[in-house]
Amino acid sequence: MLPPEQVVRELRAIGDLWDAGPGLIGLRGRVAGLLRDIDAQLRALCRLETDDEWRTPAGISFETLERAQYFASFPQWLSTASHLSGDESVLNAIASSTSPGAAARDAVGAPQTVLPPAVCYATYEALAGSVLDEPVLMCAQGQCWRHEGSRLAPLERGWAFTMREIVCLGGERDVTGLLERGGLHAQNLARDLGLDATMMAANDPFFAPTARGRAALQRIKGLKHELVVPFPDGRPLAIASFNAHERFFGDAFAISLRDGTSASSGCVAFGVERWLLAVLVTHGTNPDNWPLHSTHAGAFAR
Ligand code: AMP
Ligand code: ZN
Repeated sequence: MLPPEQVVRELRAIGDLWDAGPGLIGLRGRVAGLLRDIDAQLRALCRLETDDEWRTPAGISFETLERAQYFASFPQWLSTASHLSGDESVLNAIASSTSPGAAARDAVGAPQTVLPPAVCYATYEALAGSVLDEPVLMCAQGQCWRHEGSRLAPLERGWAFTMREIVCLGGERDVTGLLERGGLHAQNLARDLGLDATMMAANDPFFAPTARGRAALQRIKGLKHELVVPFPDGRPLAIASFNAHERFFGDAFAISLRDGTSASSGCVAFGVERWLLAVLVTHGTNPDNWPLHSTHAGAFAR
């Protein structure tokens, strides 16, 4: 087992990982292939539950996050996108500036969209106001953004990272069933990849004092679990989370069942770069020791 810092150092040294800014990395070569193969395994795992694949949008509206009460939970991580105006005089001033990059940065307008902090919000938004005849399950993948300040660390805690989720909306038992099966699928994949992973009770961070009780409730009611891989120093890395939302999103987005009650929801969320880091910490950076060979996407070396 290697410390994560050593994994990152070794990948940087061969040029297969580089930093474009805090929490923003690039990958190339064999390690980029390994990330792709791990995501293929996660996709295959999701397909055990559903073949309804979603690629979620690159942006989400402020209104949707407000509806999801995001601003009471972890708003300090919020990241947004804005753009330049089409105003010719502004564009001319930028183009003729001695530093057009800096001029453009000063000239961008107010944020128009949020860079999604999780992919499941897009699924609730898409189903808002609907009545479900039967439970819906989808496999959603997309880029997520969370600016966790000084805690950002390559692969472990990105400003931008890739999330894959299985989302379920339906009756309470449909959700419990997905979370139980999802936990087993995830533990099986972790074992196949040689990871020493354990399930643990967890809770989300809640920023607003009025919402802090929700963190305690999550634990008391057992609403959030994480699949955790320990680093060599014992520090835990959560590679997946299993979340029961009860009727929270069903109520917030007016998604109901045939009997008129709000739908329950739950999601199984995988941080793809964290699975990559867990594999590298466990097996090292030499591709000969990896459990997947990128020349055979998705095939295990047994
Ligand atoms: P959460 O919605 O917080 O339960 O996150 C779902 C999963 O995304 C976690 O279990 C991690 O595997 C992954 N994840 C969360 N935050 C980050 C981050 N900043 N960088 C990389 N992966 C993350
Ligand atoms: Zn989710």
